[in-house]
Amino acid sequence: MTASIRPVVVHTIAEVRGHVADARRAGKTVSVVPTMGALHDGHLSLIRGARDRSGYVVVTVFVNPTQFNDPEDLADYPRTLDADVDACATVGADLVFAPAAREMYRPGAVTTVRVSRITDPLCGRHRPGHFEGVTTVVAKLFNIVQPDMAFFGQKDAQQATVIRRMVDDLDMPVEVVVCPTVREPDGLAMSSRNAHLSPEERSQALSLRRALQGAARAIAEGRRDVGALIDEMRGTISSAGPCEIDYVEIVDPGTLEAVEAIDGAVLIAIAVGIGQTRLIDNIAVDPAAPA
Ligand code: AMP
Repeated sequence: MTASIRPVVVHTIAEVRGHVADARRAGKTVSVVPTMGALHDGHLSLIRGARDRSGYVVVTVFVNPTQFNDPEDLADYPRTLDADVDACATVGADLVFAPAAREMYRPGAVTTVRVSRITDPLCGRHRPGHFEGVTTVVAKLFNIVQPDMAFFGQKDAQQATVIRRMVDDLDMPVEVVVCPTVREPDGLAMSSRNAHLSPEERSQALSLRRALQGAARAIAEGRRDVGALIDEMRGTISSAGPCEIDYVEIVDPGTLEAVEAIDGAVLIAIAVGIGQTRLIDNIAVDPAAPA
């Protein structure tokens, strides 16, 4: 184990501003890694990416109530701040900002940030209000930290697309960096929600990755029949065990709208409920790219 320095942990906006101002005075570039905590190697890869590219790394740990459309999901979301701070220390984060909800949402606040259209399909269709919660909190975090760079994961592909759009549309002076999905050795995308899976559900969850890889392979081999590919993916997932498929879609990576034909790069995205746990995964496929 390498020696690590514990990051400073703060809970108020004023403290963040003070520490970031010190870093700026020292001539450092500043990056932010927004998270909801329960950190795993996926989050840590974003923090490492931020560490590699900037002199001062702020990790935010905030289970944002406004992006949960299901109160039970919010109540059950894992909260592990001490372990998160330890994990941040191993990858060189400088500051952990873990605000209470009342620090982020003061009484009387009525302003939100809403990205339209690209928030309608996929998760937007199944989680009303989710993306408005995400864009509002990320915009607030950008205003609080005022980073040069912000790091997000491809695991939440729609979220990354929505954030990029927001930054571009609102001229936010932040470079958005999207990092690859980190997986368990057997291919399951790492997620804070995986902790809720029973051993049986955990092995059933591998069907998401199997379905995505099967479709990607089929497209690489020349298949272009969108409907049949989707049916096959649904079959792979439902034959693994009882589940609730929110969506299995092949979409344009820019608009996130379902494609009728595969004649360029596509994003294949899946959301499935297994037991009480909702899992998402995706794969980017470019039929023109060399295998
Ligand atoms: P969350 O704590 O789930 O809100 O995620 C915080 C950030 O970590 C988001 O940008 C996610 O896309 C990213 N992230 C979550 N899981 C992974 C993963 N397995 N690989 C890479 N990034 C991830």
